[in-house]
Amino acid sequence: MSWIPDVFSTLKTWVFKKKLLKFSSRFRRDTQACFYCPEMCRFACPVSETLRDNSVTPRGKMSILHWMERGETPDKITGSAENALWYLEQCTGCGRCTEYCLHEIDVAGALRKARKDFYSPTLLPTLPSIGRDKNILFCEPGRQNWWRSRANLLTRMNSPEVIEWTGPHKEWLQGKITSQALASWIDSFSDATNLWFESAEVAWFFLETCEELGRPVAKKVRLVWQEFFKDWASKELSATEVFHESYHLSRLLPRVGVSVPMYERGLLPQHSGWNVIDCGGEGFYREAHPEKANALRERFLNDLKSDGRTATTIISQSLCCVEHLAADKQGSVYWLDHLFPS
Ligand code: SF4
Ligand code: SF4
Repeated sequence: MSWIPDVFSTLKTWVFKKKLLKFSSRFRRDTQACFYCPEMCRFACPVSETLRDNSVTPRGKMSILHWMERGETPDKITGSAENALWYLEQCTGCGRCTEYCLHEIDVAGALRKARKDFYSPTLLPTLPSIGRDKNILFCEPGRQNWWRSRANLLTRMNSPEVIEWTGPHKEWLQGKITSQALASWIDSFSDATNLWFESAEVAWFFLETCEELGRPVAKKVRLVWQEFFKDWASKELSATEVFHESYHLSRLLPRVGVSVPMYERGLLPQHSGWNVIDCGGEGFYREAHPEKANALRERFLNDLKSDGRTATTIISQSLCCVEHLAADKQGSVYWLDHLFPS
């Protein structure tokens, strides 16, 4: 009969976990989980750690959403709708909190969706129109000539037409465009053969929008990273050369169905012997909060130094991150083509 206490104990644990700890279904699980959480992810958030501000921890930001679900107005919670938006914007979208969270709560996604409610949807950015049946490479504003000067790279991608795009891939702009305008713009790519993206982040924003709007254009998306992966993966990096990867590349793109071979095989760049870092996505955050993004960069680089991790050269897969980090490390931050001087 010694099994009776065991069964009783298992039953007690089950009742405790399933019944007493169950969240009320009146509110969303994610915001509730964060609201009642002892902040297991707190140390991981680059924004709250850099600003040294408890109100912008992942839990702090999600709590605002939870209070709003409970019927409180942004005015009452933070003083004004403008203040509430400021809090919701204090996220680089780095995904570190999700990685450390036992429940894998997507804080960045919840904040991104919530921000949209604060924007009035007016068509702000100029959306480029394209011809039919095109091979297209989307680049950031001001980078068209940079790309055109790299004939070898472009040849490998079948010489795409290079288009500068300030469009809705930026999370700060995405919520400001009406869904109808966004959908009709995405539909204009239906005859394109390939849609190349220089950054994993930008590709992911585009893909997520396609998914939200139920548009099949996603199949045409190609990452420049993918085209050159087979060459890069076999490269040896020295101990002082670090590779700057991104959460979008390693986690988010596979979730929206993009094949990223190195990650698909369960391999991360560090398993290829690469010394890997991830600054946390300040490249995009800096568009809304440039001063704070600079503070994040300084802290990140200082942390590397104080950890004794010498990084004489940083190679990033994102040109946006290259620009952001290069402001403090002139001459030592490069995009991927640095690995192939020829
Ligand atoms: S993301 Fe997870 S660990 Fe962080 S506050 Fe929310 S529930 Fe807690
Ligand atoms: S996604 Fe990154 S910046 Fe945003 S709340 Fe989580 S850890 Fe902080």
